[in-house]
Amino acid sequence: DAYIGAIEAANPKLNAYVATTPEKARDMARASDEKLGKGQGGPLEGIPLGIKDLFATKGVHTQAASHILDGFKPEYESTVTANLWRDGAVMLGKLNMDEFAMGSSNETSYYGPVVSPFRAEGSNANLVPGGSSGGSAAAVSAWLCAAATATDTGGSIRQPAAFTGTVGIKPTYGRASRWGTVAFASSLDQAGPIARTVEDAAMMLTSMSGFDPKDSTSVDLPVPDFAAAVERGVKGLTIGVPREYRMDGMPGEIEKLWSEGLEWLKAEGASVRDISLPHTKYALPAYYIVAPAEASSNLARYDGVKYGLRVTGKDITDLYELTRAAGFGREVKRRIMIGTYVLSAGYFDAYYVKAQKVRTLIKKDFEDAFHAGVDAILTPATPSAAFGIGDEALAADPVAMYLNDVFTVTVNMAGLPGIAVPAGKDAQGLPLGLQVIGKPFDEETLFAAARVIE
Ligand code: GLN
Repeated sequence: DAYIGAIEAANPKLNAYVATTPEKARDMARASDEKLGKGQGGPLEGIPLGIKDLFATKGVHTQAASHILDGFKPEYESTVTANLWRDGAVMLGKLNMDEFAMGSSNETSYYGPVVSPFRAEGSNANLVPGGSSGGSAAAVSAWLCAAATATDTGGSIRQPAAFTGTVGIKPTYGRASRWGTVAFASSLDQAGPIARTVEDAAMMLTSMSGFDPKDSTSVDLPVPDFAAAVERGVKGLTIGVPREYRMDGMPGEIEKLWSEGLEWLKAEGASVRDISLPHTKYALPAYYIVAPAEASSNLARYDGVKYGLRVTGKDITDLYELTRAAGFGREVKRRIMIGTYVLSAGYFDAYYVKAQKVRTLIKKDFEDAFHAGVDAILTPATPSAAFGIGDEALAADPVAMYLNDVFTVTVNMAGLPGIAVPAGKDAQGLPLGLQVIGKPFDEETLFAAARVIE
């Protein structure tokens, strides 16, 4: 009831939820009370969660914040949310996001932008919560849920977490099932939590993870109790500091925070080593070929016949065209055009195949660092703090918006786990985050290092 009341009070301003399920929440909570009364109950029993609108929830609004999925209520539950309900969690509703998870500011949503609960000191201007999991980040930081699900294709868990002073982890590709999560770029998409503390994130991820025969890319490995790793410390670990992440024009306060983070880890017994990840500068351009290519293919299914919106015309081709023209927003159309272009016969080798080769080199950079004895890597999470809603420079230049992902996309390209943890504030009092990147399936080290920084 407290969370439902908080949502009713704050959501008209923040726009974090696109649908709420108060009756369902109360039913689930009552069932949890009963279980707990009998001394039973799962690890998340009775914990109220917000669910990103990208996860299919049976009988409940699931539109990926797109007009094209108008009225869609799936007949099935995503594996990740089913895992959370199995462990006792309670659903409060569906969270706003960038349309089909394409964006870094939550401004591409059909439902309009999410407003960050944060303001720069002395200013009343509305700020973005980051994207694409902007609803998740805003809801968690404004106490409109205890924690939230999110997804990360190129930074969409970690960048909004950094902008809102919350903790967000993208696990290793394959750790969580993608079944029932609306697909954006299937070789990059991963689900993970946004939470207020490292421990909460660890508990959430334990429940969300696990092998699923319905997702051929999910990996059949036991899921550790991540919460048990949180207090493990960093003694004896070697932390890599990639020189390529020292970008020109990076704000001094982010540079300073990065150094402080290294000092905190050293004070707890880690050693720090400079490393090189030489292909870093190609990650962003390669990502913006691979991700739109996969998106253009995944989004072919929205044809006005199978799901959601339908705009009829004189024949079936007309129906496809009119539905897609009316149903997709500008950013989604941009991605479809880039994607179909780089996959077209004449350009496939020059763009798509080349980007895949670059991806292999990016992955190899990380493997080389890990083979040379690095246990984890520390970087800033984002190149800046949160910016204003409707920022004109960013609106005019999509590539400038894409630069937000410069520190996060490498991790998706390499399939590695990455966690964003709040580490400090900028001069205007806005949250700043650091990112810890780890070896495949070594999320435990990430939680331990993030706990030292938090
Ligand atoms: N901002 C990136 C994009 O627009 C990442 C999105 C994501 O991780 N879902 O593609």
